[in-house]
Amino acid sequence: SNEVNAVIIMFGGSGDLAHRKLYPALFGLYRKGVLKDHFAVIGTARRPWSDDYYRGVVRDSVAGSEEEHEAEAEAFASHFYYQSHDVTDSSHYVTLKQLAQKLDDQYAVGGNRMYYMAMAPQFFATIATHLKSEALLTKTGFNRLIIEKPFGHDYPSAKELNDALTGTFAEEQIYRIDHYLGKEMAQAILALRFGNPLLKTVWNKDYIKDIQITLAEAVGVEERAGYYETAGALRDMVQNHVMQLLAYLTMDEPTAMTSEAVHEVKSRAFDQLHRYTEEEAAANFIRAQYTAAAIDGQAIKGYREEDGVASASLTDTFVAGRIMTDAPAFAGVPIFIRTGKRLTRKSTQVTVTFKGGKTPFGEGQDAHLTIYIEPSQGYTLELNGKQLGEGNILTPNRLDFRHDPAAIAAAPEAYERLIGEALAGDQTNFNHWRELAQTWHYVDVITAAWQKQTGIETYPAGTMGPQAAFDLLAKDGHQWYWQP
Ligand code: NAD
Repeated sequence: SNEVNAVIIMFGGSGDLAHRKLYPALFGLYRKGVLKDHFAVIGTARRPWSDDYYRGVVRDSVAGSEEEHEAEAEAFASHFYYQSHDVTDSSHYVTLKQLAQKLDDQYAVGGNRMYYMAMAPQFFATIATHLKSEALLTKTGFNRLIIEKPFGHDYPSAKELNDALTGTFAEEQIYRIDHYLGKEMAQAILALRFGNPLLKTVWNKDYIKDIQITLAEAVGVEERAGYYETAGALRDMVQNHVMQLLAYLTMDEPTAMTSEAVHEVKSRAFDQLHRYTEEEAAANFIRAQYTAAAIDGQAIKGYREEDGVASASLTDTFVAGRIMTDAPAFAGVPIFIRTGKRLTRKSTQVTVTFKGGKTPFGEGQDAHLTIYIEPSQGYTLELNGKQLGEGNILTPNRLDFRHDPAAIAAAPEAYERLIGEALAGDQTNFNHWRELAQTWHYVDVITAAWQKQTGIETYPAGTMGPQAAFDLLAKDGHQWYWQP
């Protein structure tokens, strides 16, 4: 059986993430038998909730509209316990420890503990420190920490947080979440790249003209202005998700699909990124903010007009950049990245442009391989074919594979996969500290360059960013490839 025994302690058990993502993910694992008889979840947060009330919250979050799951949801929720807890109060950890031990006995768990930090990041270090000082970690079984983003806001703060965590947990016990790594099509990048000798052979500077990564959001800053004002798109999306996708696209082939082997090649890929000076960073990275526009007859506020945003804010809601790597296989191949809020529509897609060039038929067109990460999931590949009819005229044909939406809906969501992997002790799809250090170092130079700027580009809400983001590619004969 694949059943895992564990007492799971959820810090931030009344929060939005827990409710929308984590309880449904745990329920998915319950329905698969990964969590079965020998598990309990302790939800902690400040509010004084009873176990019964908490179980109602958990049931609500998992039952959805499917009546047939009601009995199962009820049985699942019976494993949940609530402990009102102020994470800054030492005495509360003693209570928590006692409850964990009691539940461990009751469910015959055998000492396995999973600690999940799903609350405001300023408390991550405090929690880790108290877990040690109040001796919550068990002597038998595993002790694992799952920790949410953001992991710091620059290298020094990330290092400080990591030092606090490693005072309590070893690297092998820390599962740093980047939920993009739990997405089906992010993982499929590796299957495509390394599962096809056809692609492996041409995945280098001789055949590739450019690589493009777009993470587009249609929504604005929503209710998160307070956080977003301190972060911006570069920290919120580029340092983590964009960089992780970039590593999957440019890293060497791992010797095996193990955590050690994958992290080794990924870390090498980050090491080989060409480090810009601040001047180079300023020339190669563009920041911008959305401005008011009417979309489908509806007035959309500009970023500076949003509640909680300073009227002279210089926070980036959009970033476009040109990244170069010194990896021998990709020397000279630009990697264009862009991400932003209030763009035309929500879509994450990655494109590899293969060079056209001379053929006996005349000039061949560039061919694009696009991987659709969300909401559509699949890939398209262009090949130069022959135009139907007389003559030898090349014309691009597009092969299109998309996963069936019903199959996507039935497949486990990113959080279910990742929590399942953490319970199984597999760190492959989590961030190693080394990678975070490398990506923060890379991004900090851009931040420093921007801090010297007094202005910011703008783009009307509902467009794909400022003109400068198009000029960035056009000046070297490239252009964004962006598909439905
Ligand atoms: P939230 O504000 O909805 O929930 C925070 C939780 O922490 C609540 O349960 C609250 O009661 C508890 N809490 C706050 N202060 C406390 C204290 N002093 N002692 C004990 N408990 C306390 O936040 P959220 O949106 O659920 O986000 C949680 C974490 O997940 C954050 O790190 C966030 O960046 C990350 N995250 C959230 C989302 C999302 O979609 N919500 C997505 C990605 C990452």
